[in-house]
Amino acid sequence: MRTNSFIPLSRPTINQEEINEVIDSLKSGWITTGPKVAKFEHQLCQYFNVEQCLTVNSGTAAWQVLAHSYDIGPGDEVIIPSITWPSMANVVELLGAKPVFADVDPDTAILLTEEVDRLITPKTKAILPVHYAGAAADIDSYRDIIGNRNILIAEDCAHALGTMHKGQLIGSHSDAAIFSFHPTKNITTGEGGALICKDQDRLNRARTLSLNGIGKTAWERINQKGAHYELHEPGYKFNMLDIQAALGIHQLAKIQDFISKRTHLAERYHEKLTNIDYITPLKADNKDQIHAWHIYPVKIDIEQIGLTRNQVIDALKKQNVGVGVHFESVHLLRFYREKYQYTEKDLPNATKLGSSLISLPLFPTMTSDEQDTVINALKNIAE
Ligand SMILES: *Cc1c(COP(=O)(O)O)cnc(C)c1O
Repeated sequence: MRTNSFIPLSRPTINQEEINEVIDSLKSGWITTGPKVAKFEHQLCQYFNVEQCLTVNSGTAAWQVLAHSYDIGPGDEVIIPSITWPSMANVVELLGAKPVFADVDPDTAILLTEEVDRLITPKTKAILPVHYAGAAADIDSYRDIIGNRNILIAEDCAHALGTMHKGQLIGSHSDAAIFSFHPTKNITTGEGGALICKDQDRLNRARTLSLNGIGKTAWERINQKGAHYELHEPGYKFNMLDIQAALGIHQLAKIQDFISKRTHLAERYHEKLTNIDYITPLKADNKDQIHAWHIYPVKIDIEQIGLTRNQVIDALKKQNVGVGVHFESVHLLRFYREKYQYTEKDLPNATKLGSSLISLPLFPTMTSDEQDTVINALKNIAE
């Protein structure tokens, strides 16, 4: 059945309690970093069962203060899967280091272990695997390659809040893990991000860096620690606001509910898409993992249907279906392609995925009717 209302890729689930909490902040006279950020950080620590975490104003900012706190800079290399959001490579570039793009598994879009082996050099300072779509990357396999070299594994968990691997919540045992609370992500604070880091000194440094290098919030200066301040090193202005944390406090409480709704929809997509031969969902085996289903990416057989990915997106849009691209392969985006002389022959799996992946609408309040509209629209594009 065709409906006239547009079905977006994603829609945040914001209820009255989030709205009331934001209003409470607005009326309280305190809207920037303060008690609600402290409460949200405390809840995140409890959720992950870790001692400390840092919230900031984006996932990218979390990576920036982490990378900076590890002194990643000129002469260093960071291995990054080419199927990721470009901002993660930009951070490396902006710190004066070199992003080294790696190929991914053609069935899961996750960083290949053998690529880490191929690309590792004495200059490698960090690797940045993505738990793509909410599926778990096998961090142990990368650790085996790294051995006793001093290389940071910074896990990009932007898709993976709530993902479990080998019985553990992703992030809870990581050396370092970055989360995003952008509106499409599994929970949202409008914009926002979080960092977990086992090395408490680095996490403290990251916190200081997120607050201009001063390391005291305005709240602490006024209410707790005195108005004076010291500058430890030049930093950034990346702090999360209380009006953002007001959303996060209630969103985090609903994460399991969100994931179970996403999972139900993902299973229904699996079932109903099996008989469309030009659509292949990414592989999501249940061995050792619980998938968080941030997105539902599918590969389109561009050759078989004789349309480009953009034409597919247009054809879906005409039928009121919005989709996303997660992701264009970063090594072929103009800046990186030109600067490091990449071609389509490099990283063949990422190259192919980068031009054939689309993400179908998936969000907790999506109805079966809306999902059927998406499935029918996919059937219609080849006609
Ligand atoms: C969303 C996303 C990020 C960045 O998050 P922001 O909060 O938008 O900065 C990083 N990596 C991946 C894989 C993402 O999807």
